[in-house]
Amino acid sequence: MIGIFGGTFDPVHFGHLRSALELKALFELDHVRLIPCMPSHRSQTKASANQRLDMLELAVGNQHDLIIDAQELERGGYSYTFDTLTSLRHNHTQTLLLFIGSDAFNHLTTWYRWQEIFDLAHVVVITRPDTVLNSLSDFFKKRLIHDKKILKKYSAGGLFFQEITQLAISATAIRGMIAAGCSPRFLLPDAVIDYITQHQLYKE
Ligand code: ATP
Repeated sequence: MIGIFGGTFDPVHFGHLRSALELKALFELDHVRLIPCMPSHRSQTKASANQRLDMLELAVGNQHDLIIDAQELERGGYSYTFDTLTSLRHNHTQTLLLFIGSDAFNHLTTWYRWQEIFDLAHVVVITRPDTVLNSLSDFFKKRLIHDKKILKKYSAGGLFFQEITQLAISATAIRGMIAAGCSPRFLLPDAVIDYITQHQLYKE
């Protein structure tokens, strides 16, 4: 099975990296693909697409558990998870697990061709111990899986909730610290901090 972990990664931090590694181990995945997205105009990133990609590459280095997949940046235009999963399905025979945060899950029904996402992958919602979820519609209830082992048996279509202890780190907080002239050291890899300094990113 392959895990898919998307985000803006503006910048990537240890919250992302640690969670991706834990998920890889928990679900016994071949690898987790970190997929930087191209968000809509409303939520423009501060760093450019190339800079976000550079920072991911510096963070991951050459370890093979995490793979950086730049397809959404290369495709141009806004990214749609449906398109990404369609292309992954085309190129991989393994079961796909799409990891999404519980906030994103609460808006899933607004995503482009959201129902068809379940034809391509299982959706794994990452929850925190204090997460409050909206009640599930019949569409979701029908797909709910309680035993992780079942995910392996089918190539797509399931909905699974996985609680993990997230580190209290956010890219928004890191950008705020840098803008305020504070050091974000130990919240993200040193190589990424050096890159941010060199390119003068996130300074107001
Ligand atoms: P921002 O603060 O700019 O919104 P972010 O830190 O939340 O950014 P994103 O790139 O938007 O990072 O998130 C990508 C994915 O990583 C999302 O699924 C999000 O839920 C998850 N994520 C973000 N921060 C953490 C964290 N500390 N631990 C685990 N997962 C995280």
